[in-house]
Amino acid sequence: MILLDRVSVMYSNKTVALSGVNLHIAAKEFVSIVGPSGAGKSSLIKLLIKEADSVSGKVIVDGTDYDSLTRQDIPILRRRIGVVFQDFKLLPNLNVYENVAFALEVAGVKTKDIKRAVPKILHLVGLSGKVKSYPHEISGGEKQRAAIARALIRNPKILIADEPTGNLDPKTAWDIIELLLKINRFGTTVLLTTHNKEIVNSLKKRVITINRGRIVKDEKVGRFSL
Ligand code: ADP
Repeated sequence: MILLDRVSVMYSNKTVALSGVNLHIAAKEFVSIVGPSGAGKSSLIKLLIKEADSVSGKVIVDGTDYDSLTRQDIPILRRRIGVVFQDFKLLPNLNVYENVAFALEVAGVKTKDIKRAVPKILHLVGLSGKVKSYPHEISGGEKQRAAIARALIRNPKILIADEPTGNLDPKTAWDIIELLLKINRFGTTVLLTTHNKEIVNSLKKRVITINRGRIVKDEKVGRFSL
């Protein structure tokens, strides 16, 4: 599903964010990516959604070689990879339904199909009761559920959750992790970046540790170590 072969990422100021990274993530895996601040986690995510480019090596995601991508291909690629962030990034002037529907509207989906799809996904994330609420009227956990619904509505094969529980209390954080596990059980590949040691250690899933732009550990049932 995700294949990186000796990939390096360097920013315009010559900072090397990833250095010769080899990585294979199979379809339907649930992988935590950990590492200290500045390790290269965000750069890896940016690379996967083509917000950053590799200066060397090969990136192949879901059969697409990133070298072959044209500018027009990038929005299509981003539809196949859902991303959620620590700060949710919901549109404040749209309610929960509209925030999710918007992701389909911009993709040119017909209103009839949007009306069918959005309630289903809101039910999946447990937000059926908050359809008409605006972001400022719901809790942090509910905001993250809405963000996850928005990321999932286009049926991505990969869901990237970049520190999704960073703004949440421990109980709510676990609820969000449970939701990510459920989504993973339904067949979506999940990549989670987190600083939460307890969560990573309890998951008993693959953990990739990055430090200074390199993968320093990759364990099938990993533990959080920096
Ligand atoms: P993490 O997400 O693990 O905190 P990052 O991928 O953000 O790490 O950063 C990796 C390295 O790249 C760091 O040295 C950071 O300072 C640098 N970096 C990140 N973004 C940029 C950028 N836009 N321009 C220049 N350097 C950057």
